[in-house]
Amino acid sequence: MQKDAPYILVINPWIHDFAAYDFWARPIGLLTIAGILRMHGYQVSYIDCLDRFHPELPRPGKAGRFGKGHYLKTRIPRPEKLSDVPRNYCRYGIPEGLVRKAINDSPRPEVVLVTSLMTYWYPGVVALIEVVREMLPEVPVVLGGIYATLCHDHAVKHAGADYVISGDSEVSVVEMIDRLTGFASAQRFLADQLDTYPYPAFDLQHSVPYVPILTGRGCPFRCAYCASGFLSPGLRRRSPQHVVEEIVYWHKRYSVLDFAFYDDALLIDADSHIVPILEGVLTRGLEVRFHTPNALHIRPLSREVAELLFLAGFETIRLGLETAFFDGRKAIDSKVGPGEFQQAVGHLREAGFKDETIGAYLLYGLPGQDLAELEASIKIVKASGVRPILAQYSPIPHTALWSAAVTASRYDLDSDPIFHNNSIFPCQKEPFSWDKVGYFKRLAQG
Ligand code: SF4
Repeated sequence: MQKDAPYILVINPWIHDFAAYDFWARPIGLLTIAGILRMHGYQVSYIDCLDRFHPELPRPGKAGRFGKGHYLKTRIPRPEKLSDVPRNYCRYGIPEGLVRKAINDSPRPEVVLVTSLMTYWYPGVVALIEVVREMLPEVPVVLGGIYATLCHDHAVKHAGADYVISGDSEVSVVEMIDRLTGFASAQRFLADQLDTYPYPAFDLQHSVPYVPILTGRGCPFRCAYCASGFLSPGLRRRSPQHVVEEIVYWHKRYSVLDFAFYDDALLIDADSHIVPILEGVLTRGLEVRFHTPNALHIRPLSREVAELLFLAGFETIRLGLETAFFDGRKAIDSKVGPGEFQQAVGHLREAGFKDETIGAYLLYGLPGQDLAELEASIKIVKASGVRPILAQYSPIPHTALWSAAVTASRYDLDSDPIFHNNSIFPCQKEPFSWDKVGYFKRLAQG
């Protein structure tokens, strides 16, 4: 590394919400950029406001199985626009004092890079950028990530950053940071070849308790409720060998046992992708555990794929069912057809999976949703022996369902991303009943 290489500080901000839980989440995009910056000769410091494993946490959040668990949370006032919601609103993550201490302890950066995730979490981004501004008033702040991409104009106006970057932004971030620092770095990766990217810089964390993995970006489907096609157009993939080498790297170097696949399309074209990845894991004799919090496609879950998932050590299987009804479903998606869910569950069971390791997501809160169908879907999933998991719908700009969501909402969705919050069921019209929400949650859990 060059001696006078500039320092860049990258920060994962707090979450402000009614609920949040760590399902092996880490800011893969931000830490990939951190890895790329190091590859280009920069020195990088990292602050994770959501660090459940921070050594100075006053009281750690309750730990769950396989590394997932509760974030530390601090109750804060509800945003005024959500004053009708009868739930506590919290800041999830480490106390502000620890964030300030980390900024003080870091070498003075030349640029601060902040990421953002859910659109309605932007208040946590704004709060973090306020702290950075106060402590490092002369240092430019660059904001990227999902909120910055989906709600670009809002972010420019409200986030408090000097620069807001949209989309898959590795190349433009490096170019911008080169410009801001005056540090010349010839590009050392190819934007369209994911094998040329470094691994996300998880080593910058206090510890590496688990690793989320992306074997590719994008998805060939265009479900009306999902922003995958807008955030990552097309399907780009790493080679199976590159993925296996990353799993081996984190397992051998950092003793990581739990890996969570966060792909949108992990099983698509299974023969040329997930099959050689899992065969590679088996050939290397790795004793690790895999989890799929982001849901697997049901259709490609063949007997062969199910067997490989079982042999490779998958412990948490989530299936993207969304609804068990198919009349009129083509209006929202075409990723699963009648009978395919039961067939996939059968393959998983025959491969050796116990029912309690399998969950099926069902969307709750879609605009105009027939709640009788939701109730029946929950019962159909239960009858199959696996767990129904309610996936509360969040309206997302730039999706096909957005205008229907705006029309259906009892809030002015266009006016403020705070209303996109899935905890408030924003697309259920008045009279909206929290009792009914409780009923469906109990039905799914019972
Ligand atoms: S299949 Fe999944 S990732 Fe792909 S568009 Fe549909 S919901 Fe999004």
